Amino acid sequence: MTDLPPPSKKKLGLVIDLDTCVGCHACAVSCKEWNAGGFAAPLTDEQPYGREPSGVWFNRVHSYDVAAMPLADPVRATAAAPAATAAMASPCAAPAQPAMTLHFPRSCLHCEQPACVTVCPTGASYKRAEDGIVLVDEDKCIGCKLCSWACPYGAREYSPVEGVMKKCTLCIDRIYNDKLDEAERQPACVQACPTRARHFGDLGDPESKVSKLVAERGGVDLMASLGYRPTNKYLPPRPRRGAEAAPEPAAETLDTQALPGVLRWLDRVLSR
Ligand code: SF4
Ligand code: SF4
Ligand code: SF4
Repeated sequence: MTDLPPPSKKKLGLVIDLDTCVGCHACAVSCKEWNAGGFAAPLTDEQPYGREPSGVWFNRVHSYDVAAMPLADPVRATAAAPAATAAMASPCAAPAQPAMTLHFPRSCLHCEQPACVTVCPTGASYKRAEDGIVLVDEDKCIGCKLCSWACPYGAREYSPVEGVMKKCTLCIDRIYNDKLDEAERQPACVQACPTRARHFGDLGDPESKVSKLVAERGGVDLMASLGYRPTNKYLPPRPRRGAEAAPEPAAETLDTQALPGVLRWLDRVLSR
């Protein structure tokens, strides 16, 4: 089994805005292109393009039709805003969120407590001490798939072509690549997003743009109760036009462990 390094000060990751993601799949396609296109790219898919592409996708986008959500329902009530979430305490609250389509991009969350690493019998899966990125050393991987069983987010991708496990690298070959212009040292998915729904940065630095964005918008961990402590954060959708005015928010602090809403709803859908 594989040890984790001590927690790093720098925690590189993504912040994904569920409010502005339009489900166009540009991030997924750009990820595929970057990771399958270059000489040293980690993907060796036999058929990455064309009418019926197959193979490994580090980034997938799921789209769901979400029914109108009454605030009184503790599971389905929306995480549209911290105010709306706090308002859930009201047992007679009116519907707060009309029906909507939700687009949910999914890739590795570069967790702080990744069981995908600790279950690995060969040390192939590892977490970098310097920036927290979780990677696979394919030379050590024996393709046992234990890590994919251990990942609750479905973020591991087995390559039947090579017989080894693959995953999002946080585009480590872009973000530290001094041959690229500084503005391009971003993950390919972040660069491709036409609505700027994806943000990259250091979530270990409370003064970074991404940390401030998470604080401002009430960003949350996916399936926080599992204790994997993902570095990536999701920004919940804002209340849609037509929503009933939520009651005044309660004064108490938001308990993120108990945060319900769209992300808890997603938990249920993803675990089916
Ligand atoms: Fe591991 Fe899954 Fe967390 Fe990525 S999302 S670090 S693959 S447990
Ligand atoms: Fe480790 Fe590879 Fe097995 Fe995953 S499939 S646990 S990376 S050896
Ligand atoms: Fe793909 Fe890079 Fe985005 Fe990870 S960070 S999902 S490898 S484009």
